[in-house]
Amino acid sequence: MNSEREFSDVITGLAKKRGFFWGPSPEIYGGSAGFFDLGPLGKLLKNRLENAIRTSFVRANFWEVECPTVSPAAVWKASGHLDGFIDPVTKCTKCGQIFRADNLIEEQAPGTQIAGKSVEELTEIIAKQGIVCASCKSPLGAVDSYNLMMKTRLGLDQDAYLRPETATSTYLLFRRFLTFFRDKLPMSVFQIGKAYRNEISPRQGMLRLREFTQTESQIFILEEAEQNWPQFEDIKDEELPLLSYQIQEKGKTDLVRMKISDALKKGHFQKQAYAWCVYLAYSIFRNMGFSEDKMRLRQHLETEKAHYAQDAWDIEIHTDSFGWVECCGVHDRGNYDLTRHQEFSKEKLHVKVNKQPVVPNVLEIAFGIERPLFCLIDNSFQPQSEERDTDWLQFPPEVAPIQVAVFPLMGKPELREPAQEIFGAVMDAGIIAQFDVGGSIGKRYRRQDEVGTPFCVTIDYTTLEDGTVTVRDRDSMEQVRLHKEKLVEALKGLVYGNLSFESLK
Ligand SMILES: [Zn+2]
Repeated sequence: MNSEREFSDVITGLAKKRGFFWGPSPEIYGGSAGFFDLGPLGKLLKNRLENAIRTSFVRANFWEVECPTVSPAAVWKASGHLDGFIDPVTKCTKCGQIFRADNLIEEQAPGTQIAGKSVEELTEIIAKQGIVCASCKSPLGAVDSYNLMMKTRLGLDQDAYLRPETATSTYLLFRRFLTFFRDKLPMSVFQIGKAYRNEISPRQGMLRLREFTQTESQIFILEEAEQNWPQFEDIKDEELPLLSYQIQEKGKTDLVRMKISDALKKGHFQKQAYAWCVYLAYSIFRNMGFSEDKMRLRQHLETEKAHYAQDAWDIEIHTDSFGWVECCGVHDRGNYDLTRHQEFSKEKLHVKVNKQPVVPNVLEIAFGIERPLFCLIDNSFQPQSEERDTDWLQFPPEVAPIQVAVFPLMGKPELREPAQEIFGAVMDAGIIAQFDVGGSIGKRYRRQDEVGTPFCVTIDYTTLEDGTVTVRDRDSMEQVRLHKEKLVEALKGLVYGNLSFESLK
């Protein structure tokens, strides 16, 4: 545990020093836990991840929408968040400090069953187990429920809340979607946007934020289509690393790599369309640059599932900072949400099947972007070694914040001008490049290694003679000379295609 704690400090320290993220924000006013600023490289990296997410969804036939982040209280009453989106809290009777009751119990009496317990039951557990204030060891007060939504006001007197998830705002558009999709189900949509959770005392830095960017996709679908999903054919032979609840209930954590069609036959998945969603979520994380050996899919135990959830699997990423980190949820939500909003809004949120009204089901993929962002920095970290005198980052080329750096050997105009021309051509090809003239070439290579830039291009006096430039590979530190006419195609292949650096030699 100690070494893990230290490793997350290394990653956070590196991220702050090199401009990935800073915080807690606002730093010059002492900082509020759960808020971070993205620095220039963090913002570039987040844009890369968002692009990978967007492209994956659009290819899978989803349409993007954007809704307000503030909604009146009535919406959250209907969604269940006003009554149900709560943490149990307890206050020290002496020093007044407030704690999450479940966290305190877990810390002081590990192994106690607390999932699904009411506030009264938690109060009882605290008394029985002798749980005390973590700071002054005094007795604690009765457990109360604390709503995690951030409250605000519209105009003078209308209560409203910042959204704790994007999904609810998407459901509210159901009737508009019906028109847009010409009354044909399934309808696939997604949203990428800010969400807010007023965590009591957020810890683990970037992993638990009060303001974060969420991606959520929904498929509105009828029951028959869930069992007979045409795109299932395309993915049924793909393998997924599964940790089903049956395995977990035996107290094991062994992954089983299984064909999706077999997983369905064995009952790990109940529905073709849901299994397809799990695969889509998995492929989005692969497209964000995560390697197979750092990923697993873990099914929720009965005790973890939300009461309306028919099935739930998480994508977890292995980090050296925190072990396995839950990064994405794939939920079979049934028709819970639309039924609730139909009841509360008095609007018809159903379709007609054989002249009967039917409220469609919802399959959902939900994740925050900051978690994978942190995990990717963690997974990319390479310590300094005999060959390199600095820690470096091994980002996959397609998501690296800077993909190519362009250097004139020296700042003189005869080198600077052709280098600037090459820089422009590289940017025009859709590659994020940086132009750098400061310091020796060795120092510039090192600076790019530190931020994970996979390729560097140097323009020198030989370039003026024969038109060739040097391309340097971050991972092997090897160099090749290429003619500048062939450079952009080669870089496109290296960054986005399957071209290996070896093959350029
Ligand atoms: Zn106290």
